[in-house]
Amino acid sequence: MKAAPKSALKILEEIRQHRSICVVGHIRPDGDCIGSQLALTLALQTQGLDVTCWNQDPVPPKLRFMDPKGILQVPTEGKAFDCVIAVDAASFERLGTAAAATENSKVLINIDHHPSNTRYGDLNWIASQASSSGEMIFQLIKAARWTLSAEMADCLFTAISTDTGSFQYPSTSPDTFETAGELVKKGADIAHICDEVYQSYSLSRVRLLKRVYNQFKLTEENRIAYLWLKKSDFAKSGATREDTEGLIDHIRAIEPVVVACLFEEIEPGEVRISLRSKHPEVNVNEIAKQFGGGGHKAASGARMEGKPMTIQRRVIASIRKALQAVPAEHF
Ligand code: 5GP
Ligand code: MN
Repeated sequence: MKAAPKSALKILEEIRQHRSICVVGHIRPDGDCIGSQLALTLALQTQGLDVTCWNQDPVPPKLRFMDPKGILQVPTEGKAFDCVIAVDAASFERLGTAAAATENSKVLINIDHHPSNTRYGDLNWIASQASSSGEMIFQLIKAARWTLSAEMADCLFTAISTDTGSFQYPSTSPDTFETAGELVKKGADIAHICDEVYQSYSLSRVRLLKRVYNQFKLTEENRIAYLWLKKSDFAKSGATREDTEGLIDHIRAIEPVVVACLFEEIEPGEVRISLRSKHPEVNVNEIAKQFGGGGHKAASGARMEGKPMTIQRRVIASIRKALQAVPAEHF
């Protein structure tokens, strides 16, 4: 496994200068964000530091098994920290209300694997080749020679597993497998994690999934699949926002589909888009950026305001343009 880069070592030096630390992550946290935040918090606690772990949004029900002690808290007023460490958050805005942690802090450290990261920290370690922030936190803990407990191993294994689509996405490298192997050696309970994360869908999610299969649309010779989930779809299936996690993979998995797009109505006039690309020459990070979002080449997202049909037309047109830029023989 590669040695930790200089930026990671500088971060360790900086951390050693401080006593009170707040670990923050992005809004609507996923498995990578929660797992990385929790593992880093636990690791710093083993060093006798005063560590707080904040996220604007609570841990989604599916991921609560990682945090039985309720370490991750929603931000509260009147707290100050020497040092804030943001993980898995591509921009300062993505921290949401957890950004309040930085108000009186001396230093902001930014650890992330999104290529679209805006380098908003005083110290930045951005490893866009890393499969997940979890892989980076493992590297950091190892470089620091801090204790890695079974509890931390569970968090990091979940982070890596969820951000690689169970070790399937091209971002999965030899290092990813080596890291996963080391985590299992440290006691990560794969069977338990996979049961919690992949084999425990709520009934409301399954009802929502039925709607996915009934309602998705294909265009551009089946190369684009898209889907709307309106507020009424949530109401009728009893589903919550957390239930949308992974739904897009069902339309991404259709053989001729190259780009999958999910339009999720948050409020009337406010839409969240999720994009997935299966082609190395179709970069959905660039598409999401056009609409004020970001992410990775193969998976990205954005929030947009406007009429549903206008949003749909603009996004589909942008995807079509990206597809048309790829020579026919490359498909
Ligand atoms: P998902 O579609 O699973 O919500 O997000 C896919 C990827 O895009 C994630 O890596 C996520 O960080 C990124 N992403 C999703 N929504 C946004 C957004 O509004 N802004 C930015 N910068 N990235 C986003
Ligand atoms: Mn991530």
